[in-house]
Amino acid sequence: MREQQDGDWKYQSGLGSVMFLCFRVAELIFGVGLFVFQPLLVFFCYALICGLTFFFLMGVVWNFDSTILSVLCTGLTLFESSNILWNYTLAVITGPGNPPFPEALEDGQLGGATRVKVCKKCNRIKPARTHHCSLCRKCVMRMDHHCPWVANCVGHCNYPYFYLFLAHSWLACIVATLFTAPRMFGLFGLNTGGMTGVGYNTSVTALCGAVALAAAFLVFWHTFLVTTNQTTLEFYSNRADVSRRHRGDGLRNPYDLGWWKKNVEQAFGRASWGQLVFKAFVPCIIRPEGDGLTWDRADMMMAVRQTETTAR
Ligand SMILES: [Zn+2]
Ligand SMILES: [Zn+2]
Repeated sequence: MREQQDGDWKYQSGLGSVMFLCFRVAELIFGVGLFVFQPLLVFFCYALICGLTFFFLMGVVWNFDSTILSVLCTGLTLFESSNILWNYTLAVITGPGNPPFPEALEDGQLGGATRVKVCKKCNRIKPARTHHCSLCRKCVMRMDHHCPWVANCVGHCNYPYFYLFLAHSWLACIVATLFTAPRMFGLFGLNTGGMTGVGYNTSVTALCGAVALAAAFLVFWHTFLVTTNQTTLEFYSNRADVSRRHRGDGLRNPYDLGWWKKNVEQAFGRASWGQLVFKAFVPCIIRPEGDGLTWDRADMMMAVRQTETTAR
């Protein structure tokens, strides 16, 4: 028997106390496990990125007959690897963006909203698109998911780095697979001896191919989410909303601003096409659009447009 009072569990019976203790012990073990497990995954990712770059250079690029081609491909490989490392590191070290505590809220920060929801678990304000992460024990603005591979929540501030890390890993692994696979089978008369032996090529091809496949799925999924301005969590709640309603009700994700570049700008910051390409290919600091507390909604934009038309 238990009841919740002011966000704290109050237990009324002996059995309740035992259950509470078990729950706390399990939570502690899980917390310690996560504390050890996540840094190990991050270390594994760094080892995989650096290892694959090195083996690809050693086994393939530095065995080209043409020196000019070798130098050019070394430059391209290092450029792509630095993009992957940069975006991965920033996804790990950049906080996802946590909403402030109510007392730290400045006037007008919520766009004039008078009532503010407060999270019972972490006592931070809970604006639209914010979710509480039970692993980080904090609310996260525009939370996508908690990712153990980056030992961090993926949210408003680090989502662009997470997306670009996936996209660059996918691109690099596809190219590496295309280069090593023909060598693995000795196709096109390519050298299969020495450092470029069949076993060596098979290992690089298998690893790059596996990463490329896994990344492909994630890149397509997150491209769909970015261009429709949804998070993974919102996608599932939107789908549940649609299935609850009758077909043809025209339920639409309220944050989908229609034109897909506007949606992309919400995640990657307002930019021209050229600037978007620059952000995607040159390691740099990326700030998403807005402060994560208030969001443009398609229905509001429509209302503003209608008011403007009537005023004319
Ligand atoms: Zn919270
Ligand atoms: Zn989290």
